[in-house]
Amino acid sequence: AAKETGGGAARVFDSSLGNRQQERFEIVSDLGFALKQGQFTLNYQPQVDCLSGRITAFEALLRWRHPEKGLIPPDHFIPIAEETGQIISIGAWALEQACRDAAQWPDDLTVAVNLSAVQLNSRGIIQTVRQALDASGLPPHRLELEVTESALVSDAASAQATLQALRDMRIEIALDDFGTGYSMLSYLRNFPFDKLKIDRSFVMTLTDTQGDESRAIFRAIIDLASALDLRTVAEGIDSEEKLSAVRNYGCDDVQGYLVARPMEAVEVFKFLKGWQAW
Ligand code: C2E
Ligand code: MG
Ligand code: MG
Ligand code: MG
Repeated sequence: AAKETGGGAARVFDSSLGNRQQERFEIVSDLGFALKQGQFTLNYQPQVDCLSGRITAFEALLRWRHPEKGLIPPDHFIPIAEETGQIISIGAWALEQACRDAAQWPDDLTVAVNLSAVQLNSRGIIQTVRQALDASGLPPHRLELEVTESALVSDAASAQATLQALRDMRIEIALDDFGTGYSMLSYLRNFPFDKLKIDRSFVMTLTDTQGDESRAIFRAIIDLASALDLRTVAEGIDSEEKLSAVRNYGCDDVQGYLVARPMEAVEVFKFLKGWQAW
């Protein structure tokens, strides 16, 4: 039918918008098979206690090994999977796989799993988390769930009830990417968080010569977190300079390329063996 309307329709289809829609369509369609075909994998990135240098946790980060397109980073398919609802089953897989992996680690280590807004606000989420813990045998206090502020806004009352129920199970709750969203202070008071993950974009400007405002904000966040009894984690620590900066501000933990890039599950054991506390 497109041909009959003349060249115009074909040209529209060839435009970059058309290509983007085509690519999106392919991703949605390929995502449908990806789980069954075992194309997803989790990488793990360590978090380290700033003072003792002890590894405290690993964050599970989803990767998609596409048979033709190669490795697709989460930012390219998670937003689409959220729109279609496919994130529910993909997320359930990630949760259970992360718990299974973590159950093999030394028992003072926690695994942090990202929960998207769609997952948090879905009906079966508590059951899904329980299932992952039961199937893996991981004690709930070794699981941490990371949520972003965007997951809290649409239905704050329901999100709050869900997070409270998870916390009552002794699961830890972290607020991810703090500083990029609404940064509503009331959220910190009203939601049952254990941890605040300060976004990489804040850490990036901390060591700038022009970074006085960033440093003031960073200091304020740390003070606030400490007043509310929240543990703080700085994301995106990729240099010694940034490490010593956030450590001086009293940040509890760090995560970033300086310690390690996200690694495959099998590499975790070797990494732990080779890690020397600073
Ligand atoms: P996030 O939860 O904030 O995860 C941290 C991201 O920062 C990761 O990107 C990590 O590789 C990257 N990163 C860590 N250290 C550094 C550093 O020093 N420098 C720089 N430049 N980057 C660093 P990644 O793996 O591409 O994940 C992107 C986002 O995708 C995550 O952000 C998270 O929002 C989402 N995501 C990943 N896995 C899952 C999942 O299983 N479920 C859901 N719902 N979302 C996920
Ligand atoms: Mg995260
Ligand atoms: Mg984050
Ligand atoms: Mg981030």
